[in-house]
Amino acid sequence: MAEAENFIQQIIDQDIAEGKVTAIRTRFPPEPNGYLHIGHAKSLFVNFGTALRYGGKCNLFFDDTNPSKEKTEYVDAIREDIRWMGYEWDREVYASDFFDQIYEYAERLIAEGKAFVCDLSAEEIRCTRGTLTEPGTESPYRNRSPQENLKLFREMKAGAYEDGSRCLRAKIDMTSPNLNLRDPVIYRILRATHHRTGDRWCIYPMYDYAHPICDFLQGVTHSLCTLEFEDHRPLYDWVGYSLGFSPKPRQIEFARLNVTNLVMSKRYLKKLVEDGSVHGWDDPRMPTLAGLRNRGIPPEAIRDFCARAGVAKANSECEICYFEAVVREDLNARAPRAMAVLDPLKLTIVNYEGEEEIDFEINQTAPDAGTRKVRFGKTLYIERGDFSLDPPPKYYRLKPGGVVRLKNAYIVRCEEVVQREDGTVEEVRCSYLPDSRSGADTSGVKAKGVIQWVNAKTCIDAEIVQYDHLLRDADYAGQDFSERLNSDSEHIFRGKAEPYLAEANENEAFQLMRTGYYKKCTREGVLVLSEIVSLKDNFNK
Ligand code: ATP
Ligand code: MG
Repeated sequence: MAEAENFIQQIIDQDIAEGKVTAIRTRFPPEPNGYLHIGHAKSLFVNFGTALRYGGKCNLFFDDTNPSKEKTEYVDAIREDIRWMGYEWDREVYASDFFDQIYEYAERLIAEGKAFVCDLSAEEIRCTRGTLTEPGTESPYRNRSPQENLKLFREMKAGAYEDGSRCLRAKIDMTSPNLNLRDPVIYRILRATHHRTGDRWCIYPMYDYAHPICDFLQGVTHSLCTLEFEDHRPLYDWVGYSLGFSPKPRQIEFARLNVTNLVMSKRYLKKLVEDGSVHGWDDPRMPTLAGLRNRGIPPEAIRDFCARAGVAKANSECEICYFEAVVREDLNARAPRAMAVLDPLKLTIVNYEGEEEIDFEINQTAPDAGTRKVRFGKTLYIERGDFSLDPPPKYYRLKPGGVVRLKNAYIVRCEEVVQREDGTVEEVRCSYLPDSRSGADTSGVKAKGVIQWVNAKTCIDAEIVQYDHLLRDADYAGQDFSERLNSDSEHIFRGKAEPYLAEANENEAFQLMRTGYYKKCTREGVLVLSEIVSLKDNFNK
């Protein structure tokens, strides 16, 4: 096998070498309480990627131990997003599939004196837990007999007690330096309708207790999770050893993916959806996988980004412009080129009559993509921003008396500017140099600028949408997410586009020349070009 590429692979290689494991099995463990985001893509990459590397399997494991927040809508969305990312899971399992066994194991812990029913309230438990420097205090109920505990626990299950009035705690060590080992709660009484088991249960296991059991019952060999679970590993191991799991799954923690200008907390994302700051979970500005898909970002680019961000043991933050650079690189190689203008300015060529077809390279970085024909004519639209009445020095686009090349076509010279009463420019009238056609230019005239255009006779009205980051930069807007929310992050232009774009496949990505990468779609009969990523590369700055 090839040399390990990260510390997780090193650990697994060693486990294999020592004969501890043969077939590798991992699991991706989302809680179905929201949509997956780009951080989860990292976890998908690590879990599925690791299984793939060892010819193993990866399960989709829904952690649904928290009934009040979970919904089937999220389960369906999570499935769809994983498939879209190009991953296929082996078994699809739910923590709730194992509720019976998890319960049986709890009775076993009780019988062996390793768990007890505690009558302290959640608040009292918190208060007696101690601190990082002070040990905790033992519960007065800690030394109940196994018989009494079993009776109480069965009564809890049968619904004899109020929510929160009792709980089951593991009996470990109230003086442990690790707070997670100070007799943690492993079952609570909670009357809530579960999205799969309905009202069958009124007690639910806690995540830290259920997770190692579910891993074991699925045959997971390596349980890969993020760093915040490092402190929980001793409890994970305690459960495994106490219940005699063999082979015991091994938990390994890696750093979360953090990206500047992106919020990666389902709770916050949910708030944005609920308060109407965005159009929904799949709003193109959202860092959810549904949002990224809707934005037009190829899943390959997301996978590539996760691979390049690497699998590390220490947390760090990745620049959003690095993600954008990876997306741009991917699209540059695959996206056909096309022309459109956001803010159209009429350009008439006074000495041109008739029409002709111009050769247009579909993607100059992929010569195999070939060429297509674009219709050139007397009346065109150019981008208003490509003309200046009062240009700064070194302005190479169009200006009064100046020349510019129309992309793949001719050089034109601005002869006359038609202005409205308010001074705004209504039209520019140009002459063209008939012997300056691209590829056969004998005019001897040098045009330093090249601008895109569309033919006024054939072009289509298009709604062109650009986006800013939903979160402003932390350094100028403060650390708090709500302070950083950019309420003006969607900009809609009434532009003009080549008819080629109207005929293109829905959701196809294009490079609008000199503007950016855009996804084509049609909404209520209107051509919409929605920004995927701009052409401007801020990463190498
Ligand atoms: P959130 O904080 O957004 O609610 P979560 O960790 O609660 O996320 P889960 O549904 O529990 O979300 O996550 C499923 C898996 O994805 C977990 O193993 C979790 O560690 C991992 N994960 C979540 N966010 C990231 C991230 N930013 N980078 C890497 N892995 C992540
Ligand atoms: Mg979680």
